[in-house]
Amino acid sequence: MKSWIEIPANSDFSIHNIPFGVYKSAHGPRVATAIGGYVVDLFQINAAGLLGHFNIPSEVFKSAYLNDFISLGKVMTNGVRNRLQELFSEGNTELKENEALRNAAMLPINGVEMMLPVHIGDYTDFYSSEDHATNVGKMFRDPANALLPNWKHLPVGYHGRSSSIVISGTPIHRPKGQTKLDTEEVPTFGPSKRLDFELEMAFIIGKETQLGDSITTAHADDHIFGMVIFNDWSARDIQKWEYVPLGPFLAKNFGSSISPWVVTLEALEPFRTKGAEQDPKVLPYLEYQGEKNIDINLEVLLTPPSAEESTISRSNYKYMYWTMEQQLAHHTVNGCNVRVGDMMASGTISGPEETSFGSMLELSWGGKNTLHLNGGVERKFIEDNDTVTMRAYSEKNGIRVGFGEVVTTILPAK
Ligand code: MN
Repeated sequence: MKSWIEIPANSDFSIHNIPFGVYKSAHGPRVATAIGGYVVDLFQINAAGLLGHFNIPSEVFKSAYLNDFISLGKVMTNGVRNRLQELFSEGNTELKENEALRNAAMLPINGVEMMLPVHIGDYTDFYSSEDHATNVGKMFRDPANALLPNWKHLPVGYHGRSSSIVISGTPIHRPKGQTKLDTEEVPTFGPSKRLDFELEMAFIIGKETQLGDSITTAHADDHIFGMVIFNDWSARDIQKWEYVPLGPFLAKNFGSSISPWVVTLEALEPFRTKGAEQDPKVLPYLEYQGEKNIDINLEVLLTPPSAEESTISRSNYKYMYWTMEQQLAHHTVNGCNVRVGDMMASGTISGPEETSFGSMLELSWGGKNTLHLNGGVERKFIEDNDTVTMRAYSEKNGIRVGFGEVVTTILPAK
């Protein structure tokens, strides 16, 4: 598949991708796709009749969120994606030779402001990377029994907060809260001294269920629309003091950042790969067929205010112990319903190497080690005015499907 649009080989937005997002047009929010260096306004493409027989109401593309589009169902949304690939294909002249439409609907991507792509009703965060859970268990609990007894029997998760999930580019203030050192008798209050990122991916629910229904691992993919990069900001000192017995609370809900383009599950299919050997054997409702992990290269960069960026981690989504399909089957096995736009994050994705750890907590090993960055800068955790960038892409046989990036600057406590 080749396009008449010039697309650099290292572009995340090849003709094989066709992600969906929402941008801020002069006339309000519009649903769009990205290809090469362009954002393509789908309201205008649809209004010009180029989406053909789908007859999608124009309001679906004049929306602040993708929820109505996603709710059309995969037959329609994949149909639109396939039709867009056809319009962008070499030899197709329908859009290529319509200069007025091209000039109005194809905008240089760098000049466009993106918005939160979905209205997120509920947000769940899992804890599904064995290397991450082992590292945290060693530091926070007992090195000899780093994984708790339930960890290999179920995908551990908790319900997070959706109100504080923000789009890439939105700055976040350092959180304040209670912390207590082991050497202190009572807690103190103030700005977090151990602010951290968590390198995660999140999937977005594309098909709702009713209360009482469960989704099997075999049907899970029908309910997953696509994925984004997810930076789950965390305050480690607040977390350590508050998390027993009910889990994360204020250490996690002050902000999470996502990338603007939702890459469809269908665009990621070519990059499926074999998952971890699951031993002990999982219960029947968590068994699955086929290759369900996905090879997605992940990268974290830290840019201090005084120096250029440094790459501080390279990981991969394929390191996940539990797959999305297992996470969704487990989430709904009790009859918990899901709704379009719900977001489910993977948990921090660490690999086996020290250079593939997905958080400062692990990279600095609880603050024991110092990271040496470009320009002579040193870090153990994230400092005020630091910018953290995460990038993600899949690549195989010369085909690249990427997510772009999620960029967040940390401001001083308010
Ligand atoms: Mn997390």
